[in-house]
Amino acid sequence: MIREELPFPGIIGRICHHPCEKACLRGEKVDDAVSLCALKRFVADYEVGKREIPVPVVRVRKEGRVAVVGGGPSGMTCALYSRKAGYRVTIFESRDALGGMLSFGVPPFRLPPQVVEREVSLIEKAGIEVRYNTKIGRDVSLKEVRDTFDAVYIGCGAQAGARLGLENEDAPGVLSGIGFLGRAGEERKVGKRVIVVGGGNVAVDAALTARMSGAQSVRIVCLERREEMAAGEHEVDRAGGAGVGLLAGWAPQTILTGEGRVKGVQLVRCASVFDGHGNFSPAYERKITKTIRGDTVIVAIGQAPETGFVGELPGLELTEGGWIRSDPATPATTLPGVFAGGDVVAGPGMAVAAIADGKRAAARIDDYLSGEPSRPANARTGGKRKGR
Ligand SMILES: Cc1cc2nc3c(=O)[nH]c(=O)nc-3n(C[C@H](O)[C@H](O)[C@H](O)COP(=O)(O)OP(=O)(O)OC[C@H]3O[C@@H](n4cnc5c(N)ncnc54)[C@H](O)[C@@H]3O)c2cc1C
Repeated sequence: MIREELPFPGIIGRICHHPCEKACLRGEKVDDAVSLCALKRFVADYEVGKREIPVPVVRVRKEGRVAVVGGGPSGMTCALYSRKAGYRVTIFESRDALGGMLSFGVPPFRLPPQVVEREVSLIEKAGIEVRYNTKIGRDVSLKEVRDTFDAVYIGCGAQAGARLGLENEDAPGVLSGIGFLGRAGEERKVGKRVIVVGGGNVAVDAALTARMSGAQSVRIVCLERREEMAAGEHEVDRAGGAGVGLLAGWAPQTILTGEGRVKGVQLVRCASVFDGHGNFSPAYERKITKTIRGDTVIVAIGQAPETGFVGELPGLELTEGGWIRSDPATPATTLPGVFAGGDVVAGPGMAVAAIADGKRAAARIDDYLSGEPSRPANARTGGKRKGR
């Protein structure tokens, strides 16, 4: 069943993590709630390891060409299901490999590259054309793609790291979390004393990766108190267990430099992060400060979309912050025949949500190309998914 229903079972089985996972995997809590993540992991590992993943069978061939912008989990899923439905499909991928953040972000201790490679190989085996190193907006315009293909799915993710907006943020030794994590399994250079700014799972992944890459001291600095952090409690525990320090309730105020590179960060006490309505609205106690020294600062405070190329297609709307406006149900954009989903619509989230968007989009693309009227896009709060 898992083979029929899930596009990338090994990936989904491994990448889902939940607070119950740790205790359940260790079998400590016999009478406690059943861990869905651990179950998914067990079924996926058992099933996937047994035999080759079957290549989807294209039973009917249909007229129409589908273009997919971005070969991350969302784009790959849309491509696979559109191919299964009988269409000719081309993925435009700016990098030299498929997988998106699963290959260029999620660290190997969470998702082994061989699991991704094995499942990603399905794309080419299914007869989907992939144009690697082809960035829409740089190498080919979105207008050209829309003029050449009958339907377009945009799943280009949130590839840019959000910035603190402080002076010296471009100094040598200051890195973005996404940039630092980079291609899974690649060796990375890191200083002896690393400061990671951010309170989400990406910050924790960056801190653990820095530790595994040889940093002697790694500290996470975040605005939130420990119990408010976006990172899962078990992830924070895991980092603590690996010797990562935590300075919770502090905000970077100044990036300190000397001799042409970063030397540390001056922090100010953060009194509260959210206002009475739960909106992000940090308040500081300006008189309480602290200086910490470090030779590498990794900024992992969120991700932003790179959607400048959308301007090439008049009528295709973005929401505040540059996310693509699309209807969560369909996921149709404001332009007929153009669909969008995954992180570029909803903001940084979970792989399984991006996969679900891709699957939904393939069904709607099939309707659209078969002559079913495409439903109009509803207003959507782009980029509002809970961040990582
Ligand atoms: C460090 C880290 C850890 C994570 N851990 C987990 C986890 O444990 N569990 C989980 O469920 N999720 C996790 N995620 C989130 C998950 O990886 C994302 O939600 C998911 O990958 C989003 O899929 P996507 O296809 O929308 O975008 P992406 O994965 O970002 O893929 C977008 C693709 O589009 C390509 N692209 C971008 N712009 C263009 C362009 N102009 N032209 C052509 N191609 C383009 C990119 O190169 C990329 O391949 C993590 C993310 C990060 C960064």
